[in-house]
Amino acid sequence: MTNGQVYTNGAAHSKNGHETVEDVIIIGSGPAGFTAGLYTARANLNPLLITGNEYGGQVSITYEVENYPGFPESLSGPELVEKMKTQAEKFGCRVEFDYVTEIVTDQHPFLVRTANGKEHAAKAIILATGARPRYLSIPGEKAYTGRGVSYCGTCDGFFFRGKDVVVVGGGDSAVEEGLFLTKFATRVRVLHRRDQLRASKILQERAFQNEKMEFIWNTVPTEILGDAQGKVTGVITKNTATGAAGQLDTDGVFIFVGHIPNNDLLKGKFDLDEDGHLITDRYTRTNIPGIFAGGEIMDKVFKQVATSVGQGCSAAMQTTRWLEEFESHGEIDLKSDPRQFTQATLVAA
Ligand code: NAP
Repeated sequence: MTNGQVYTNGAAHSKNGHETVEDVIIIGSGPAGFTAGLYTARANLNPLLITGNEYGGQVSITYEVENYPGFPESLSGPELVEKMKTQAEKFGCRVEFDYVTEIVTDQHPFLVRTANGKEHAAKAIILATGARPRYLSIPGEKAYTGRGVSYCGTCDGFFFRGKDVVVVGGGDSAVEEGLFLTKFATRVRVLHRRDQLRASKILQERAFQNEKMEFIWNTVPTEILGDAQGKVTGVITKNTATGAAGQLDTDGVFIFVGHIPNNDLLKGKFDLDEDGHLITDRYTRTNIPGIFAGGEIMDKVFKQVATSVGQGCSAAMQTTRWLEEFESHGEIDLKSDPRQFTQATLVAA
């Protein structure tokens, strides 16, 4: 936790004995991270962006991005990530392929430690660590992951050419990935726990018109079954309305039941909500002065590439302003929570 000490600008620079103190380190390489990289680079802050293990974040495992403005012909997730990286680097953002293992926030400059054994000092940090797929946590799920259980149709669809698959979930991911899987599989059955999809109408319409797609309503898997070779053979199901058990034979189970924020670095230091998202104010400020956030680590509502880009931009602009103020006053009280919540933002949250 923060220790409440007030450091002056000059004292802070010598405190950790680092020759170089970065103005800003960005943690995460999804749309929020690269946008923050672009904006802080153009503000002459010479940002260092540390990618994390999931380079590009969740959009990098998206087959086709149709709703990011400016690309009417659509493009693949990896293509969009490369364009964002190239644009950020063009203005001087440094991109390091490494994984942050610890952030030290009770001293300033902050410290950022990585899996490659590096320790960076930074005056400001932008957290853009994103989110990862949520597990169902049912028997067989872990044992058959990579052997028929998958969380990415775009990555694994090819292996199910001519096979039968089941998709779990009723949101945009389930329907979009299910549609993608119809390119390979002979049949895609979507198991949804309710009798109405959460997915957007345009995706619903496409799915209902696709002859390879079927919907099994009010149904959840309770166990994933496999054979002696360790391959998926089916799922045990439960009807959520009647409680009746059933069984479906299938070769693959694709799970899209939402995401959980990547907050392992943040626990015990930052204010998190009941789902584990960072609680920021509308200026992307966290409870620690000098640390800002954008993207799915702090957004539990919208979770779009377009909104992550906007939040990354806001975090970068706030960081730039904060650094200007810090350089002119040279003081930071790590215990003072800089966030401001209005009634309107609290209601929206
Ligand atoms: P999501 O919208 O949270 O949907 C998760 C789905 O999984 C829901 O249908 C939910 O059921 C179901 N579910 C949750 N827990 C479950 C459980 N334990 N057992 C069975 N089913 C369970 O997640 P998402 O589809 O990954 O989308 C996340 C965000 O990304 C959304 O904002 C979405 O709009 C966005 N996204 C957008 C696009 C696009 O624009 N093309 C593509 C992908 C994702 P209920 O409906 O009953 O809650």
